[in-house]
Amino acid sequence: MNYIILDLEATCWKDRSVQKQNEIIEIGAIKMNDSGESSSEFCEFIKPKINPTLSDFCIELTTITQNEIDNAGTYNEVIERFKKWINLDEPYMLCSWGFYDKKQFQKDCELHNLDTDWLQNHVSLKHQYADIKNLKKPIGMGGALKKENLTLEGTHHRGIDDARNIAKIFQANLGKWKIKE
Ligand code: AMP
Ligand code: MG
Repeated sequence: MNYIILDLEATCWKDRSVQKQNEIIEIGAIKMNDSGESSSEFCEFIKPKINPTLSDFCIELTTITQNEIDNAGTYNEVIERFKKWINLDEPYMLCSWGFYDKKQFQKDCELHNLDTDWLQNHVSLKHQYADIKNLKKPIGMGGALKKENLTLEGTHHRGIDDARNIAKIFQANLGKWKIKE
């Protein structure tokens, strides 16, 4: 099985009551085998369709620059490359910290009239982690890293760095996740 440990960043605004549609601007992902060895990484920016200009808040939160977004591929192009990289012909499981990433993929695929079937193989490591550790409720990635005595490396809220940090939590609990295709 290929475990695709992923994290998305999306357009956002300081005032969350503003009714604007969030769109993915970065996909960060690590491919891991059953032994917890990572064979490759995927990191691409995406140019949003509805709001291609990032808010100052979003730039500050993610550290992603307007220039990186201006030079990025469209959603359709990047998703095509991402699906090829995953290799949908081999058994795979999309793993993210919570259900946000799956929901955001679904929204963006619908916006671009793309199929969403490939998103069915998904688990929330955040919810599984709470089960494994007998926590009353799911905790954030930062809290889980602390519990594991792991350091938060890179820049929090950069998709690829978040994915690498989630991958470390995944590796630290190898064999405990309940993941079946
Ligand atoms: P994360 O994986 O925690 O970096 O968050 C993914 C996306 O959720 C970000 O790219 C933002 O679009 C949104 N987000 C996360 N934290 C905040 C926040 N404090 N305020 C507004 N949006 C946020
Ligand atoms: Mg993130």
